[in-house]
Amino acid sequence: MSFVAEFNSLPLEALLSKSIATSPLVARETLGKPRVSLADFAALISPAAGELLENMGRKSNALTLQRFGKTIRLFAPLYLSNECVNNCSYCGFSRDNPILRVTLSLEEVRREAGALKLQGFRNLLLVAGEHPKFVSNHYLRDCIAALHADWPSVSLEVGPMETEEYRPLVAAGADGLVVYQETYDRNIYAAMHTAGPKRNFDWRLETPERAYAAGFRRLGIAPLYGLADWRLEALSVAAHADYLLRHCWKAAVTLSLPRLRPCAGEFEPLTHITDRELAQLICAFRLMFPDVGIVLSTREEPKLRDGLISLGVTMMSAGARTEPGGYTGAGREKIHHTERGLIKELASGASEWAPRENRPTNATGQFNVGDKRPPQVVAELIRRLGYEPVWKDWDAALTI
Ligand code: SF4
Repeated sequence: MSFVAEFNSLPLEALLSKSIATSPLVARETLGKPRVSLADFAALISPAAGELLENMGRKSNALTLQRFGKTIRLFAPLYLSNECVNNCSYCGFSRDNPILRVTLSLEEVRREAGALKLQGFRNLLLVAGEHPKFVSNHYLRDCIAALHADWPSVSLEVGPMETEEYRPLVAAGADGLVVYQETYDRNIYAAMHTAGPKRNFDWRLETPERAYAAGFRRLGIAPLYGLADWRLEALSVAAHADYLLRHCWKAAVTLSLPRLRPCAGEFEPLTHITDRELAQLICAFRLMFPDVGIVLSTREEPKLRDGLISLGVTMMSAGARTEPGGYTGAGREKIHHTERGLIKELASGASEWAPRENRPTNATGQFNVGDKRPPQVVAELIRRLGYEPVWKDWDAALTI
């Protein structure tokens, strides 16, 4: 049985009602439990448990130190392409947005990776929009193969594939796959994805299982907070993580907490999760999943990121750019618009996203980042908080 069947039978509305109605006494009792079920998790994300955030933070911190030590693993996203066949209302790369697009050549990908390596990174997340013409499976395999010797860990955040299509990517050296469900609410999912293959909710939901079958040893999942009610999303992704830990037990599972950021298309969030609720959610995830990696990206502002480190976070990006070529200016001569899969030359000044002189690249980013500090500044801050920034935590020689 895939997670889809389990997901379809989850009593999510009942769990949400239980969460909202949780009493302070039940919240306190739940916080004292040695093991946390999904029903307990509902209590931990309740408004009542929100009043116990200090206690939750202490417990979450202690569990994280016990399982991970005082370490924060650092990684960087490398955007290969911002071409996409999908229309996702909340994403700057949406097909119908008149943005400036480019797909990096292999040589340009090497240049971008080289710049990140000089900054200290050894964990790379390759990101691309979903466009089989520009971002083919062969192209992805070649990018991974070109980087494999220099990069101990290469993860992917690209359009979902079949298991057989994933296998060559694993063989080329990719070890992690990140796939956000975006929202676990089927109605909102249908409303947000109006064109392209991404409309298939169930196929996307089963992606981590197909990736596991192909041999990926790290699986990253998340909703995009700002679409459906955050507690419903949290309950769903907790159930999803629980399923993956039971069925894909050889892989490490990570949970991210991406909140919507401003982007081309100017989509406004449909729902809101406050900073305090985000902190509570990190603690609740840690209490339910002591061994799961928790990822905090540069979507968040520096002050909040710094404050969340001790609550249970184990992985952070730093110095991230969300446009292809963002680290070196690679590909800037090839910037274009794309219409119906065809490249269109830029008419000068025709786009609200027109090239600007003072940017290293002219391609449009996926969203505006919140923490623009250079990686070394983030690493120094991590050290000042008493944690060790970990640039490398894996080597191909460890693969059996
Ligand atoms: S979220 Fe992904 S699939 Fe959707 S438009 Fe953006 S890049 Fe494309």
